[in-house]
Amino acid sequence: MKESLLGKTPSEMKEIALAAGLPAFAGKQLSEWMYGRRVHSFDGMTNLSKVGREVLKRRYELGVAEPAGVAESADGTRKYLFPVTCPVGGAWEASCVEAVVIPDADRRTLCVSSQAGCKMGCRFCMTGRQGFHGNLSAAQILNQFIAIPESGELTNAVFMGMGEPLDNFDEVMRAITVLTADWGFAWSPKRITLSTIGVLPKLRRYLDECKCHLAVSVHNPFPDERASLMPVQKAWPLRDVVDLIRQYDFTGQRRVSFEYTMFAGFNDDKRHADALVRLFSGLECRVNLIRFHRIPDFPYETSPDAVMMRFRDRLAAHGVTTTIRSSRGEDILAACGLLAGRHQQDMI
Ligand code: SF4
Repeated sequence: MKESLLGKTPSEMKEIALAAGLPAFAGKQLSEWMYGRRVHSFDGMTNLSKVGREVLKRRYELGVAEPAGVAESADGTRKYLFPVTCPVGGAWEASCVEAVVIPDADRRTLCVSSQAGCKMGCRFCMTGRQGFHGNLSAAQILNQFIAIPESGELTNAVFMGMGEPLDNFDEVMRAITVLTADWGFAWSPKRITLSTIGVLPKLRRYLDECKCHLAVSVHNPFPDERASLMPVQKAWPLRDVVDLIRQYDFTGQRRVSFEYTMFAGFNDDKRHADALVRLFSGLECRVNLIRFHRIPDFPYETSPDAVMMRFRDRLAAHGVTTTIRSSRGEDILAACGLLAGRHQQDMI
């Protein structure tokens, strides 16, 4: 397989240009074509010599690949399907990932995938159910931004699609570098949120090296109960994750939020609300309550609206800013926890 130009830095582009017999400044031109103008073919790079372009074509691919299908929800949410091939255990494996565009007033948020499948095994998640099919490259992550019709309209991005982004740290960070660099997409870090279940060692690096927002999946404040849903609790307990977060400043531009999917009778009573209040005491943060979308062979249903509102009010009464997130794209299986990268008749 050829290497992709998408995801390369200007200094890497310069080396590539020189090796192709192009002048050093062609590296900068390559960056401009890839990230500024977002061309979809080498032939579109009209200020590079034809010979140079032919050499590049033989050695590299751009890394821009159209989605294989799209499904549109009644609420305007659109889910795109991307075939990908990723390295797993010394071999290449073909599968699919999904990216979701969520329109909301003047915002267009892209929910982006970072892995094909996932290793983390959260019991309530369709992506976790399908197992792990490889890490996406920075090019495969950035392609989700570039190859969709809404590319130029995107206002925000959340790494909340398929996969645990901190389990693919290097490629996700490379993609974020391209998104936020002046020579790249030049997005403010404030437009990007990375969501994690709390992969502690990489979380520390993320907080040290990146200014983007953070979202952490909590779903239960009690260790035993959380571990029954999320095996990650045994490796990196939530308490340690929150203790780490307390060491960083979230009173300025960077924000932290905690995601809490509500399961009826499992994590939605007063005891849970009060434990969350204690856990987040003194921390500048927001809690997002999420409706659960039922999946097969899983015992819980979503909490009723009245219970969710009571839960929100209890947290808010104790000073924890809490919102109930509206659910988007459920009819096309694009809502939280439902992404599975499946070829569906309505998408092809
Ligand atoms: Fe992986 Fe996130 Fe699903 Fe857990 S919730 S299995 S981390 S994709």
